Amino acid sequence: MSKAMTSYAMDLLNFVDVNFFDERHLRKFSGFMPWGRHHMLGIRLLSETGRPNIMYGLKDGRPVPLDILRPGERMGFLPAELPHHLTGDYGWWHINTTEEIYIPVTRSDGKIAFVIVEALFDDRYDFFVWYCPTCYRRLFGREVNTGRVGIDGYWKAERDAIREFNSDERHRLCPDCGTTHPKAYSFFSPEEEKVW
Ligand SMILES: [Zn+2]
Repeated sequence: MSKAMTSYAMDLLNFVDVNFFDERHLRKFSGFMPWGRHHMLGIRLLSETGRPNIMYGLKDGRPVPLDILRPGERMGFLPAELPHHLTGDYGWWHINTTEEIYIPVTRSDGKIAFVIVEALFDDRYDFFVWYCPTCYRRLFGREVNTGRVGIDGYWKAERDAIREFNSDERHRLCPDCGTTHPKAYSFFSPEEEKVW
């Protein structure tokens, strides 16, 4: 075994341990963190009911609820390039060029942790996209090469895309059916705008 491999494995030993009751861990992972060499990990703590949010996927141009938040019953897998939106969590549709794995975990106090595992390769791209809420025509989108700029760059691109989308009503007006899209909001500041 090469020296590089050994030291990488040693680093990893100190990194795989995630404590669902440690506020610092929950904060650190809420907006995703690199996890090992090729992955990123996100953890969201949901309310006791476990279902405050609805995840939608866009199938044949229409939104379909994805029922993946039942711990002890099911987990979820999102294929690459499937547009998806988690209501109340982020004010945009997300598309990325790698797959996403969702694992709902019941904490020992009954609260539900929603664990998200994604690949983080150099050629990973993320897209922040808005569709007309009536006819689901694509209205606006921006992309970021997350594999190159990292997770901080991803969140900066998120806020830039939201600011740009919200800055001009023409970005939000559907040219096909005349619906005006509600304003977008960031994962980090859903209180700023009406959530959808
Ligand atoms: Zn429309």
